[in-house]
Amino acid sequence: MKGPRGYVILLMSIFIAGIVIQQRYTQLKSDHLKIRESSQKVAYTSVTNTLRLVSRALADEVLQQEDILKLINDIVLNEGEQRNELRGQLYRKLYQMYARVSQHSIRQFHFHFPDGHSMLRFHAPHKADDDLIPYRPSIAIANREHIIVHGYETGRMVHGFRHVYPLNYHGSDIGTVEISNSFQQISSELSKITKATSTELLFIMYKPDLWYKLEPSQQLLYTPSILHPDYLCENAQATEFLDFGGTMQPSEYLHDIQINIRNRPQLKEKMTAGQEFALITRYSNQFYSVIFHSIKNTENKHAAYFIACTPEPDIQSLWVNALIQFAFISFLFILIFHYWRRSACFKTQQKSTEDFLQILSNNMGQGMYATDKQGRITFINAEADQVLGWQRDDVLGHDAHDLFHVDDNNHDQGCFILNSIIEGVTCRQEQAYFKNKRGEQFPVELTCTPIYTNEKVVGTITLFHDITQKLQDQMELLEAKTQLEEANRHLNKLARIDALTAIANRREFDETLSKLWKSSYRKKNHLALLIIDIDYFKRYNDFYGHQQGDLCLKQVAKNISKACMRPDDFVARYGGEEFVVLLPQTHDDEAIQVAEKIQERMKQAGMAHPDSPICSSVTLSIGICSVVPHDLTSEQHFIDCADRRLYVAKKRGRNQICHQD
Ligand code: GH3
Ligand code: MG
Ligand code: MG
Repeated sequence: MKGPRGYVILLMSIFIAGIVIQQRYTQLKSDHLKIRESSQKVAYTSVTNTLRLVSRALADEVLQQEDILKLINDIVLNEGEQRNELRGQLYRKLYQMYARVSQHSIRQFHFHFPDGHSMLRFHAPHKADDDLIPYRPSIAIANREHIIVHGYETGRMVHGFRHVYPLNYHGSDIGTVEISNSFQQISSELSKITKATSTELLFIMYKPDLWYKLEPSQQLLYTPSILHPDYLCENAQATEFLDFGGTMQPSEYLHDIQINIRNRPQLKEKMTAGQEFALITRYSNQFYSVIFHSIKNTENKHAAYFIACTPEPDIQSLWVNALIQFAFISFLFILIFHYWRRSACFKTQQKSTEDFLQILSNNMGQGMYATDKQGRITFINAEADQVLGWQRDDVLGHDAHDLFHVDDNNHDQGCFILNSIIEGVTCRQEQAYFKNKRGEQFPVELTCTPIYTNEKVVGTITLFHDITQKLQDQMELLEAKTQLEEANRHLNKLARIDALTAIANRREFDETLSKLWKSSYRKKNHLALLIIDIDYFKRYNDFYGHQQGDLCLKQVAKNISKACMRPDDFVARYGGEEFVVLLPQTHDDEAIQVAEKIQERMKQAGMAHPDSPICSSVTLSIGICSVVPHDLTSEQHFIDCADRRLYVAKKRGRNQICHQD
């Protein structure tokens, strides 16, 4: 996976994490809002129910007092001044009670005639007899149907929660009594309950439910709501005008929050339909829940909204938590991505290093494989594959010893890989044996080197090459060398042998003389030398020809050799038709005997020499010298002596032996 793709995956992962966290945050926020909504609903219901019970208790005080019911009955039955007087009696009778309860949530205490006209307003006793039916459906219903009517209802001046009780005196309907709470009272009671949550309350009235009831002068007391033009709020003038019972003016922040939310999608539609709903808004770095409770009038129609606005630090915490979660997960992804990229980069580098090593090792001209500490193959080059006949995948991870080491290979010393690992040193073997895949053994030369990591052996590298050809070449070389040595020996021998007569030649004689001379010198033994020359050989040649002369020379050499019987006796051709004999540990007389034996043999051989003036057969003249070598004599003197005596023998007539000067 290359760079850009990795970044796309990273961004997508962060994006998905963001969506999940956001959804979770939305869910928690919505749950919180529902709890807030229902708890406020409960608070509202509880306050209105409590006030209803309070009103009932108060009503009972009236309904159960015979004298009060009679007085009301009298007011209904009388007219004019009489009626006014009776009204005054009723006012005085109940004023104490009214004064007491008006301090506790009750604002309106109002008696009506059965026809819906006002009988006595305790909050405005001077104002009576006006027809309430057009504006006050609750009074009409209670009088008509003789039932208790509870519910919100707007009035011309005061809007609130009405409790209208029918009054009966001995079977006659004598009108109704109304005990009501203003919104301000409800609001104040609710505020006590919601004090802990710092909830701010706002009451807005649905214009169609109220507007038609108002005189033009009264309409001035209302201004359209910021949220919706069909809703009205009482303005500051109204609050001043109505010394009690008016709605509270919204605080500054409630005003700003309304501006904040008024353009929310579907807000106006929901308000037009009179739906209950809730929303969250942010104002001055703080979250607020805004809950719209619908208030139904006595005819069960939507007539107002009771809006509760509460600071929501919990949602603030949820939001901060979501941000922290998102930041943490993003950081985690980036960290994982970073390490993944580093590891991918490292792998790429490792791969290119491996490729480089593979190319290098494939071209190094010898087999190479690496093992781990257990001897399992971790790397093998192409040359080794080829030589061993294995495929790379067949050997990787396997024990080299099981695959291609020959078991009895240096068995005494153990496996070289093992030794290299145990001893941590390079192990060289000039000749070991491997076997290929077919089981055929072949000789190899190898070097096994330990691999160190942090000063510990972690494996080995073995370099090897097949030395079959090398050994074969060595064998051939050895053979050639032997042959050459043999040839040399032969040549040497030839160089020391006279080609014609096959006895030692002059060179061999010189060396042998030197050796024997020294030996005799050390041992103080006699050494005898015979120099032998064929008499009138020139004539022989001339007579028989050169070839016949050669045959003669051969025959003479043979005769001389046969006459010298001892193993240390040495016969050589000295040159031309001259021969020499060296006789170690031989005195003159013994030498003479040998010379005579030679001549005897020549005689017996009877080789015809018709042109010889002295004999019909070939004869020899022999000079003898026998000495014990010492410091005053030399080899040359020795030869000269024998040669001089030969000359003497010649001079004396040939075919004779001379051993003295
Ligand atoms: P003398 O009795 O005084 O020794 O006389 P001679 O003829 O033997 O001696 P001379 O030195 O005059 O002649 C030696 C001859 O030996 C001459 C030469 O042709 C012959 N000769 C030397 N070497 C060879 C050889 O290898 N083969 C043959 N066929 N003849 C040889
Ligand atoms: Mg000669
Ligand atoms: Mg001669």
